[in-house]
Amino acid sequence: MNLSTNAALVLFSGGQDSTTCLAWALQRYAHVETLGFDYGQRHAIELSVRPKILETLRTLAPDWSTRLGEDHVLDLSVLGQISETALTRDSEITMQVDGLPNTFVPGRNLLFLTLAAALAYRRGISVLVGGMCETDYSGYPDCRDETLRALQSALRLGMNTSLSLETPLMWLDKAATWQLADQLGGESLIEVIRHETHTCYLGERGQLHDWGYGCGHCPACELRAKGYASYRASD
Ligand code: ZN
Repeated sequence: MNLSTNAALVLFSGGQDSTTCLAWALQRYAHVETLGFDYGQRHAIELSVRPKILETLRTLAPDWSTRLGEDHVLDLSVLGQISETALTRDSEITMQVDGLPNTFVPGRNLLFLTLAAALAYRRGISVLVGGMCETDYSGYPDCRDETLRALQSALRLGMNTSLSLETPLMWLDKAATWQLADQLGGESLIEVIRHETHTCYLGERGQLHDWGYGCGHCPACELRAKGYASYRASD
């Protein structure tokens, strides 16, 4: 099957990382589509901020408006049925005995990327873009480069395509992710990320901090706030 190498499908959750990845893809590919998953996540607010972000990104650059194509949302509620984690159940975020936080949803990224690859195949798209990162992360093994290289090989073999899996944030820390957004879209993109994107695990959007909305205490908020402070300090 011949897929277009000038088109990308971005895993877009509505968070800081995936919004930065989306801007990255809009700079590089002639046609960009987006994909979100509804898996009963506790921070389902992520899903609700997506349309507004897409709408705003279209206004940031004339190219981005023509390049940004269809948005897809897949129902993955089955993930909530099979996993007992702090992201899908109303329980406190803690560290497990295996050293992973209980926000880890086993197999989540493997499922996401496999479904994304199937959708990309149907849409004639050969590039998948995801915000996985092993620099400033929670230790999730399915965010590691080695896992994703192996998955790319499996997907290529299993679908008989030249599909490629791009992870522009893999070696960046959170400060560098803010920096990348700055390079891609300047202060206006930074403002979109601050105001429109959602990262907080608890789904908290009451108070606007300089780094955006969130509870300020969960691991996701802490990483985002720390990264923003060090990005501004080096600015
Ligand atoms: Zn939070």
